[in-house]
Amino acid sequence: MGFTLVPTVTLSVLCTKCREITKFSLDREGFMKWKGGICIQEALPDVSPDIRELMISGVCGTCFDKLFSEGSQDARNENENKGKEGIGS
Ligand SMILES: [Zn+2]
Repeated sequence: MGFTLVPTVTLSVLCTKCREITKFSLDREGFMKWKGGICIQEALPDVSPDIRELMISGVCGTCFDKLFSEGSQDARNENENKGKEGIGS
């Protein structure tokens, strides 16, 4: 067999806004690293932004987008600045 079995954890997270449950699998080692305090971008680089947001703030991608579109101009400016900061510097 030409594949390696990577241990994963499956999480079900309830969005605090719309109460929708999102189920997803994560690399177990990365998940443990994140739990141990390592920045999520470093611990779980392959996780989609939506899942990251759900894990960090408990809000699903859909609601997070809504929050931002309803938010002030500041939110947009912050998004633009994100490209400038290096990850893990
Ligand atoms: Zn939601």
